[in-house]
Amino acid sequence: PSVVNRIAAGEVIQRPTSSVKELVENSLDAGSTSISVVVKDGGLKLIQVSDNGHGIRFEDLPILCERHTTSKLSAYEDLQSIKSMGFRGEALASMTFVGHVTVTTITEGQMHGYRVSYRDGVMEHEPRPCAAVKGTQIMVENLFYNMTARRKTLQSSNDDYTKIVDLISRFAIHNVDVSFSCRKHGMNRADVHTSGSCSRLDAIRSVYGLAVARDLMEITASDDDPSRSIFNMNGFISNANYIAKKTTMVLYINDRLVECTALKRAIEIIYAATLPKASKPFIYMSIILPSEHVDVNVHPTKREVSLLNQENIVESMQGAIESKLMSSNT
Ligand code: ADP
Ligand code: MG
Repeated sequence: PSVVNRIAAGEVIQRPTSSVKELVENSLDAGSTSISVVVKDGGLKLIQVSDNGHGIRFEDLPILCERHTTSKLSAYEDLQSIKSMGFRGEALASMTFVGHVTVTTITEGQMHGYRVSYRDGVMEHEPRPCAAVKGTQIMVENLFYNMTARRKTLQSSNDDYTKIVDLISRFAIHNVDVSFSCRKHGMNRADVHTSGSCSRLDAIRSVYGLAVARDLMEITASDDDPSRSIFNMNGFISNANYIAKKTTMVLYINDRLVECTALKRAIEIIYAATLPKASKPFIYMSIILPSEHVDVNVHPTKREVSLLNQENIVESMQGAIESKLMSSNT
């Protein structure tokens, strides 16, 4: 059974970045306003995510890392929206099957926190009282220690830290009320750092630099015709001055970071047609639409989504972007 669990867990946690994404989403779900990430050896030695959220209650610690343990189901009224959020209660459990997980947490009004380590879904020992500041710190050590081939592949590619920085950047420019930092273990300098109290444009500037932020235009679009599709979009897109080697598309749908290849391609086509020189744009886009319109298809851990009425929505986005680009290009 342990081999089966490990294989399943390796599907949920495919690389260090997947682990960071799950941990940060948990921190956001816990209402944190400050989240810091420390990474050692591309995440294979250590991933540490510390937050100042509501913490985990003592009585929840024994089952915290059992599969399907979630405190979040009641927050989602219907099955459909659960589906659109992806899997539930699998992330922490999975990490314990492919790494060593240590949780330190304190809830409001407690004199001290608790620390406990997990392996293969269960506690290694009773929770130990310890000093703690507000919130939760989760350490994942020796990721894929029991999956030699994957560890070797990841070690030799050695680019997960870059991927993690990219991921935290994407979180930081959407969640502008949260202060993010991301750094390598032992380094004082953070590679991502936001204040947690600035405008979206300021966040983009501090994360992606002036060259990107200077050339952005705000964009909005909406469609409330129920016979077609219902959505609200706002975002920032680059203009003719922004020349890059590849497209950066930061897409949020209903406040979840996702990928939508069809939409990305469609936008690139509009850029290529309107601003040939700037055909690799920077796009930040946040779309809100009814959850039953989002389909996390293929595989629950994939961030690729498809949308009901996708053609309508893609067309509307293309239209909105095209007219923005045209008006800026005159
Ligand atoms: P899910 O997020 O789908 O519920 P996870 O395996 O990611 O499943 O987490 C399991 C549970 O652990 C969460 O439902 C939450 O109650 C708790 N949890 C995990 N991380 C944190 C955190 N940083 N702060 C507070 N609670 C947390
Ligand atoms: Mg989670």
